Amino acid sequence: MSIEQRVQNWIRPEIRALSAYHVQDASGLIKLDAMENPYTWPEDMRQAWLERLRQTDVNRYPDPQAKALAKELRQAMEIPRDMGLLLGNGSDEIIQMLALAAGGEGRGILSVEPGFVMYRMIAVWCRMDYMGVSLRGDDFSLDMPALRRAIEKHRPALIFLACPNNPTGNLFDEKDIREILEIAPGLVVVDEAYVPFADASFISWLGQYENLLVMRTLSKLGLAGLRLGLLAGPQAWLEEIDKVRMPYNINVLTQESARFALEHHQVLDEQTAAIRRDRAAMFDALRSMNGITPYPSQANFILVRTAAGRAQALFDALLKNGVLVKKLHGSHPLLEDCLRFTVGKTAENRRLLQLVEDFIHG
Ligand SMILES: *Cc1c(COP(=O)(O)O)cnc(C)c1O
Repeated sequence: MSIEQRVQNWIRPEIRALSAYHVQDASGLIKLDAMENPYTWPEDMRQAWLERLRQTDVNRYPDPQAKALAKELRQAMEIPRDMGLLLGNGSDEIIQMLALAAGGEGRGILSVEPGFVMYRMIAVWCRMDYMGVSLRGDDFSLDMPALRRAIEKHRPALIFLACPNNPTGNLFDEKDIREILEIAPGLVVVDEAYVPFADASFISWLGQYENLLVMRTLSKLGLAGLRLGLLAGPQAWLEEIDKVRMPYNINVLTQESARFALEHHQVLDEQTAAIRRDRAAMFDALRSMNGITPYPSQANFILVRTAAGRAQALFDALLKNGVLVKKLHGSHPLLEDCLRFTVGKTAENRRLLQLVEDFIHG
């Protein structure tokens, strides 16, 4: 039997049908595709961090509960005292834990589209049904009649709402989210990956609704390399979800480094503030260009629509000149002619805007 046949026989068909999560090589490019914080740490902070790591031993397993880190995260994120906290190797791992704990025959995940691709991907891995309900085409707000119908019909175990949403950048209406919490038969997870760049958070709603969990990550804040996400909500849920957590899922270098970063949070806060200022400048510049429509964003990226049929050409022109952005055209009908620009350093943004300008006039 050939290896191809063996693979065919033993790898589940729905896995063979997936395309692996694609990450484009960015060496030598200005990287504005993945919502990373573009800033590194000042040299003295770097030295202090290395000193901290020098005192960290890697021969022992890490603290399985990451207690010291969890305590600092609770403070930094203002998690209500009576709520539980669960840590993941990135929030991606938390989505997976939720699916492992709540999934099963006939159980489903519901989210909105265009949205974060990992909800669908993980549903497939965990043999769950996935339902993507389209956002409204005009402003990417929640289509409540469609959501009511889908929730009633499919009775999803898990509903994920990224707020601000990726890749559209908008917040959803609080009134709509309240209604979803009231009609959802299962859990509603509000994914606040972009909360450092937004003017709203649902963390204070915890406890008001028994079925609300709030998920966050340190990735977009400036620690994407560490892989640390968190889930906050009622202890009764988290105790169960914790049972499908890999032992020691938060490694000792991440635990120490994240604690160190939180202790120096003013550096991250300044970086976040700079990104927010630059987002406003980028939005104004894009809005003044003919043939480009930027969408208002509460995240560290801006979704833009080019003139009809021009997204690929703009993407290629940027890449040829050393700037990597995300092409969304072709990924969803509502993202026709769309690209997503992560807000980078001021000079990187200037370069991007200049190239867009040249493209329009060239
Ligand atoms: C980036 C992103 C995440 C993933 O975060 P990690 O903690 O890096 O796994 C989760 N949700 C949304 C909406 C994102 O855009």
